[in-house]
Amino acid sequence: MAIGVKVMQRPGVESSYVRATLKGMALTFRHLFRPKITMQYPEERSTETWTISPRWRGTHRMLTDEQGRSKCVACGLCPQICPANCIKLVPGEDEEGNRYPLIYEIDEFRCVFCGYCQEVCPEEAIHVGVDYENAEYERGRFVYDLERLSAQTHPVSSLWDPTDPKGE
Ligand code: SF4
Ligand code: SF4
Repeated sequence: MAIGVKVMQRPGVESSYVRATLKGMALTFRHLFRPKITMQYPEERSTETWTISPRWRGTHRMLTDEQGRSKCVACGLCPQICPANCIKLVPGEDEEGNRYPLIYEIDEFRCVFCGYCQEVCPEEAIHVGVDYENAEYERGRFVYDLERLSAQTHPVSSLWDPTDPKGE
């Protein structure tokens, strides 16, 4: 099939931008009388009309069981699927043959917050979280070990909205 090329001609006469400028100024003027949506962060983190989405994918959380042990069974799926290669897992095994993570670390600086680790985890252990306040002064501080991941208390991400499965 031949590919058609449409050639756009430049306007032959000089355009005036006065009309477009006036339209822009009218829009700006209309906004002067609308309710302000500025938030006084960090004192204010949500308003009546805006709050962070439960689908937000931020700082990870490792969930623990009733005894406070990590739910991770060191299956190796999350480091395998991670596109940023930012999960370090060293598996261990107890006398009864139960696997657990000897070392489990996530580099939040390299992470692209895709949420694949949460989706793939068979134990629903690792989650991306509804949290964005994870700035640090040193790059090394972005590497969260198992203890730090388990100590996070923010809500975990729902990843998708059941009332809006297409995410629109
Ligand atoms: S959210 Fe994505 S990039 Fe980040 S650790 Fe999980 S799988 Fe890797
Ligand atoms: S997928 Fe879940 S159970 Fe498997 S290593 Fe990752 S956190 Fe642990």
